[in-house]
Amino acid sequence: SLSDRLGGVFDRLRGRGALTEADVRGAMREVRVALLEADVALPVARDFVDKVTEQAIGHNVLRSVTPGQQVVKIVHDALVAMLGADESALLLDVTPPAVVMMVGLQGSGKTTTTAKIAKRLSTGSLAGRERKKVLMASLDVNRPAAQEQLATLGTQVEVATLPIVAGQQPVEIARRALQAAKLQGYDVLMLDTAGRLHVDQALMDEMKAVADIARPAEILLVVDSLTGQDAVNVAQNFSDQVPLTGVVLTRMDGDARGGAALSMRSVTGKPIKFAGTGEKMDALEAFHPERVAGRILGMGDVVSLVERAAESIQVEDAERMAAKMAKGQFDMNDLRGQLAQMRRMGGLGALAGMMPGMKKAQGALAQAGGDKVLIHMDAMIGSMTVKERGKPELINAKRKIRIAKGSGTTVQEVNKLLKMHQEMSTAMKKIKKMGGLKGMMAMLG
Ligand code: GDP
Ligand code: MG
Repeated sequence: SLSDRLGGVFDRLRGRGALTEADVRGAMREVRVALLEADVALPVARDFVDKVTEQAIGHNVLRSVTPGQQVVKIVHDALVAMLGADESALLLDVTPPAVVMMVGLQGSGKTTTTAKIAKRLSTGSLAGRERKKVLMASLDVNRPAAQEQLATLGTQVEVATLPIVAGQQPVEIARRALQAAKLQGYDVLMLDTAGRLHVDQALMDEMKAVADIARPAEILLVVDSLTGQDAVNVAQNFSDQVPLTGVVLTRMDGDARGGAALSMRSVTGKPIKFAGTGEKMDALEAFHPERVAGRILGMGDVVSLVERAAESIQVEDAERMAAKMAKGQFDMNDLRGQLAQMRRMGGLGALAGMMPGMKKAQGALAQAGGDKVLIHMDAMIGSMTVKERGKPELINAKRKIRIAKGSGTTVQEVNKLLKMHQEMSTAMKKIKKMGGLKGMMAMLG
């Protein structure tokens, strides 16, 4: 995943001072590979990386406490921006019937999505939460039983479908559907069109002819999110021929890595209005850019880590602490403060899980009892006298037994705590020698 890749890049840089521009460019090459692996189309990935590189270099990232995570956050935020905000509203505020036309390749999920949207409209869970009177019509005369498929779904979701008349062509069916919708006072007419296995001109011409007659308020391109690199060509072709208003990505319940979403958005410039998440009629969701960005980056929670770190670590505090440590004045009270800070950030396990390249440490921590360790340490320090906290070297065997008893721990654990304190003091002196504090986090690595 990208987090592992970037982990590698930044591991090599760890302990060095600020990042250079070349470091950022190196990281961005990894970002590009990750995007391609997530099936983002090549030109889209290239554009994206160019933009983000500029942003990252111009940004304070080079001097930040956690440059690696900052770079990932910048990439993540740029992805979210590019994927667009939640814009799942359908714009149906026209003289009724408002026509919603579904287009896309065969098997992309048009018919299924037509019924899903119709259900939501008719039950009042879309479009201003008003209950809409909806009529569906299938214009698919190519696939055997395609019209029956929609009729069956219509029965299932309790939405009317246009009666099937054998032998009619798509344009004729569209005309009939419009007339029926007008006469019978439907608010919304959903037109489910035919798809082909590949984009071809006959399909495009048919689609344009239907759009000319029906003047849709919404033309939604339905795309299988598993399409991968091909998604761009599909989007480009449809987008060139009809004025799309939005995109629906289906099969987001599968193992799609989300790349199609980025390509779609970039090529069509239209919002992704819905995500299909299963075959059932309720499996339709608003599109969540955050989730998809996370999927593309495969990076778990790096972003929330950075945000949490920014909240809870006061850089000045940390600098002051480092100076103290360097002078050998880092006592148990200071250690206690550090432990509390780690807990505020979600505990050691959370930290390790969120930080690139720290998956191994997470396993070790889990074995050691995870966050219990932090809580025990706090209890042990709580059982020390004021003198002991200020001067841990006073803690002899007898005192260790007392502290263990007082905190409900063992002498072994007390020993571990003392050892950790000593290691932290040593590490801090080293960090000071290497040219400053690169965050308390470096010590976890
Ligand atoms: P069309 O040819 O574009 O009309 O595609 P269909 O609506 O007939 O869908 C093709 C197949 O994909 C059907 O078996 C659907 O149940 C399935 N399908 C549609 N959307 C989704 C989705 O979001 N997730 C999953 N898992 N399957 C879907
Ligand atoms: Mg169909």
